[in-house]
Formats: sequence, structure tokens, C-alpha cells
Amino acid sequence: MKKNRGRLFIISAPSGTGKSTVIKRLMETCKDLYFSVSATTRPARPGEVHGVSYYFITHEEFEKHIRQNDFLEYAEYVGNYYGTLKAPVISRLEEGKDVILDIDVQGCKQIIAAMPEAITIFLVPPSMEELENRLRTRGTESEERMRNRLIRAKAEMLEKDSYDYVVVNDEVDKAVAEILEIMGCKKD
Ligand code: ADP
Ligand code: 5GP
Repeated sequence: MKKNRGRLFIISAPSGTGKSTVIKRLMETCKDLYFSVSATTRPARPGEVHGVSYYFITHEEFEKHIRQNDFLEYAEYVGNYYGTLKAPVISRLEEGKDVILDIDVQGCKQIIAAMPEAITIFLVPPSMEELENRLRTRGTESEERMRNRLIRAKAEMLEKDSYDYVVVNDEVDKAVAEILEIMGCKKD
């Protein structure tokens, strides 16, 4: 019997909202979910592992992937390229696996244009003050990079209503439970 195609979930959020934290928890609960590892030209942060957090590649390598049409979508985000490699995502979906993408608003628009069945979730911080707090506490950005991310965050927040679901990440447990409910994934 032919397997049903997997579902494609997209999670977007302004930088510092807690997307990576929430997705890590989702992956621990939904063992069958496949997280799409993006390629990026931004340098790795301490603790980030090549092939797990991202594929950290050079500008030249990224542009070669663009020319070869390897990306499902890609975008420029505050000075670096980020992109979703097509092959692993398509093959997982065809195997019937659900796939989750952590991508920005521009990438989400590109995916929706090609795959309108994708289920989109926008994670928001409880306030812009708290967002700044979280970015500062994470301590991974210079003051200038943090400013640029906060400017970008304000523009991204204006797009939240174009998503299927908006979830507030006030408490991680609550946000995770809400997303599990949307995905129809039960906690063991
Ligand atoms: P993103 O992936 O959206 O950029 P991160 O997952 O790296 O964000 O989270 C940014 C910072 O906020 C991290 O230091 C993380 O531990 C913290 N954080 C995430 N969710 C919450 C929350 N609900 N309450 C307080 N701090 C949080
Ligand atoms: P960060 O540098 O904080 O890891 O990510 C910055 C932004 O890039 C976040 O909004 C994140 O969702 C987005 N991002 C990560 N991977 C991709 C991708 O493959 N494509 C697009 N369009 N955005 C991505």
C-alpha cells in the first residue's frame, strides 16, 4: 500500500524568541519528526555542531548550491545566507515522515508559494522588551548584530497574522504543549 505523504511544518519567530529551545523539546517528544538542517554562511556559535544545528558553509559554496537549484528556499538574513536543502526534505515527505523547518518569514513565503499545504506556526515573545532580554542573556550577538536583529524582529512581527497559528513563548512548557497539540503529536 502506498504511504501517505508526510506533513510539512514551518516555525518562524523573531530571533531570540526561543525557537531553537522549543524545537529541541518538540524533537525530544515527537521521535518521528524530521528536523531539516539548514545551510548558512553565518559562523557557528559556541556549542553549535556542523550538520546538527546547521551546515556551516562558505559564501562560495552557498552560491554554488543556488546555481545548482539545490534549495527549496533560501534568503538573506542580516548579512548572511540561510537555505533549506531540497533533497532531504522531499525524500522524508515522500517516505511519509513529518518534517519541521525553522526558517524566517521570507523563506516561509517561498515555501507556501510552492507547497501551500504546509502548516505554518509563528512563535512570538511575550513582549519586545523580553525579546531583547533573551537575546542579551543568550550572549551570542555583538551589540550591533543584536540591534540589527531587533530591527528585523519588529518587521517580522507584522507578518505573524499570515501564519496558520500564532503561539506565545511565555513559558517553554506551555508553548511546546500548544505546538504538540497543533501537530497532533501526543506526549508519551
Ligand atoms: P531563537 O532560536 O528563537 O533565536 P533561542 O532558542 O536561542 O531563540 O532562545 C533565546 C534565549 O532565550 C536563550 O537563552 C533561551 O534559553 C531563552 N529562552 C527561550 N525560551 C524562553 C522562555 N520561554 N522563557 C525565558 N527564556 C527563554
Ligand atoms: P540564527 O542566525 O538566529 O540561527 O537564525 C536567523 C534567522 O534565520 C531565524 O529567523 C531562522 O529561523 C532563520 N533561518 C534558519 N534557517 C533558515 C533557512 O534555511 N531558510 C531561511 N529562509 N531562514 C532560515
